[in-house]
Amino acid sequence: MPEHYIGRFAPSPTGPLHFGSLVCALGSYLDAVAHEGHWWVRMEDLDPPREMPGAAARILKSLDAHGLHGHGPVVWQSQRHGLYQSALDQLRQRGLVYPCTCTREQVRKAGGHRRDDCLGVRSLGERGTKEPQESYALRFACAGVTEKFSDIWQGEQTQPIGEDPILKRKDGLYAYQLAVVVDDIQQNVNCVVRGADLLDCTGVQRQLFLALGAEPPRFGHMPLVMNEGGQKLSKQNHAAPLDDATPSENLFQALRFLSFLPPAELVNEPPRQILSWASARWQRQQVDRRNRLLEQ
Ligand code: GLU
Repeated sequence: MPEHYIGRFAPSPTGPLHFGSLVCALGSYLDAVAHEGHWWVRMEDLDPPREMPGAAARILKSLDAHGLHGHGPVVWQSQRHGLYQSALDQLRQRGLVYPCTCTREQVRKAGGHRRDDCLGVRSLGERGTKEPQESYALRFACAGVTEKFSDIWQGEQTQPIGEDPILKRKDGLYAYQLAVVVDDIQQNVNCVVRGADLLDCTGVQRQLFLALGAEPPRFGHMPLVMNEGGQKLSKQNHAAPLDDATPSENLFQALRFLSFLPPAELVNEPPRQILSWASARWQRQQVDRRNRLLEQ
């Protein structure tokens, strides 16, 4: 485990960044820089059917316009399938991953675990190590465990894991839960700062770190920016894309959302100046952790 701080921002290219993503990118950048850490940008282009053409390039251009430069080359998940497969093989050899042909409904009815008559498991049993004939997912056996951890902003957490999560889907794609953990291990990430919408995934991810023989990082889940309808800003509910022509105003607003109050004249300065003002003043305890609307 490295002694110095290593963080990251890991967008999925399902659409352009919006103001809520800027808040997360900025929070994770400032937390890393204020701890004299390293900050990676990782493009989570793992799920082509959900991706929007051109979104990855647009996200990188937005980060650049806002002065949020990674401290190393951008890492692309689409180029790392070998790493994900070898982690799966490792887990499978240890009996922690099993093939499953069940639907979500069947798994739910079986209480989150494999069904005794799951075709995948049965055919494995019948034919030794042979793969099931029909398409199957690979699930991580961790349901029933209760994870406890302390989140930087959301405090003490108790998360019972209700269902064995899928690590490789029936369509052959590696699942987010697997890739995110394998990459965080491989990139030596020891502090994950991201949006509070991902808090519920954290228990499973911690279990996966441990199963892969790694110490889980520290987690900090940032407040979400909500819209008037009470939903978090997201690509799915068509949040407005960030306007790269006004990066200083955007950063200024994002800092205000995080409860930092930059002096008014800073809005006329380039992003570099705003980020340097903010990183010198970043205090975790100053961040208001409540999800809320952006006050104009
Ligand atoms: N790629 C994920 C997303 O855009 C975030 C992954 C993470 O930060 O753990 O929602």
